[in-house]
Amino acid sequence: MQKRIYLCLAHMSGQEQKFIQEAFDTNWVVPLGPNVNGFEEDLKQFIGQKKEVVALSAGTAAIHLALIACGIGFGDEVICQSFTFCASANPVTYVGATPVFIDSEKDSWNMDPQLLEQAILDRKAKTGKYPKAIIPVYLYGMPGRINEIIAIAHKYNIPVIEDAAEGFGSRFDGQICGTFGEYGILSFNGNKMITTSGGGALICKDQESKNKIMWYATQAREAYPYYQHEAIGFNYRLSNICAGIGRGQMTIIDEHLAHHKHIAKMYEKAFADVPGITFHKNPSERYDSNFWLSTILLDENLRVHGEEEAYAQAIHSAVGGAAGVVHAGGNVHTDCEPNRNVEAMRIQLDKAGIESRPLWKPMHKQPVFKSAPAYINGVSEAIFHRGLCLPSGPMVTDEDISYIISTIKKNIIN
Ligand SMILES: *Cc1c(COP(=O)(O)O)cnc(C)c1O
Repeated sequence: MQKRIYLCLAHMSGQEQKFIQEAFDTNWVVPLGPNVNGFEEDLKQFIGQKKEVVALSAGTAAIHLALIACGIGFGDEVICQSFTFCASANPVTYVGATPVFIDSEKDSWNMDPQLLEQAILDRKAKTGKYPKAIIPVYLYGMPGRINEIIAIAHKYNIPVIEDAAEGFGSRFDGQICGTFGEYGILSFNGNKMITTSGGGALICKDQESKNKIMWYATQAREAYPYYQHEAIGFNYRLSNICAGIGRGQMTIIDEHLAHHKHIAKMYEKAFADVPGITFHKNPSERYDSNFWLSTILLDENLRVHGEEEAYAQAIHSAVGGAAGVVHAGGNVHTDCEPNRNVEAMRIQLDKAGIESRPLWKPMHKQPVFKSAPAYINGVSEAIFHRGLCLPSGPMVTDEDISYIISTIKKNIIN
């Protein structure tokens, strides 16, 4: 049977089992314990700043708790990046607030600082209130213009919650992404830079802020001999078993980072002289992406084999949705979808045993957020129409990359 090449499969160091065995041997099969503490310490060391880290059950939970800790609730507005996975914006609705979507700038594909400031002023004019937080994203690991975003946030006194779920280990101006703002969120889901099977973390600025998050993450108990509650809490702490996986993964994080960057370099070099294909690279020396996923853009007029049949059939399972329950789509088309040549390339790669995936569809084009305010310049939608994510993970070999590149080239009609 032909081998399949996936986008970003997890890769174990071999140490994970040792930490998990320890948890069983010492009977720490609970959502706290030595592995949780050890994993937090590893993360702290890696981040290398005067920051604190709380290990949580998911990146989504980390965003939720950051919003709660910022005091955001019903009737508030929170600025989100439109070009992202839905988990950046969904927690805003969990607290009864409304996301306000900001489009991207074309260099990094992340939040456009100019639009951000326009939106802040316009929300103030329209609602009488400033937005309560800003959630910029490091899409596919690429840093954004976080320095400008932080400066604007300071000017209007709005906390920044960096969604570094995809940007673990990325740097801007040498500083680790997730350490610029009030909070930084990380994800250790199955396909991220490292995995705990499922899990996440919140980077906090000091011990006091960490304590507050821990308190909310463990059902908000007051200090009494019995259970006394004066606020609503959550059950969001990471399990000691999952944290054991995390400790094992942290022993090879540097190798993973180097490998993702090596793959990106191979793609960048190979596509440099392929007309019609643009590799999404670091826009300048200030950017140091982890290249969680390598991505390319296909020119609109690039011709690809099988274009006529692309979108001929309704899809009955979601691309990349292997782990989830998927609603039957029904229609073949929506009003915002990848160009036909992109879908044709995805199908050709799939036939050749290569998983690829469209970029995240912008949130302002998602039916579920159709009534949310949005400040749009057309950049994310244009990129979405043309983009494709390519296999990038630790299990992808140099040989795989050569095969992927030649398969892509073979399917271009010259
Ligand atoms: C994966 C992801 C999240 C959520 O992380 P989970 O650990 O899966 O809950 C949030 N934001 C972005 C941009 C992500 O890619």
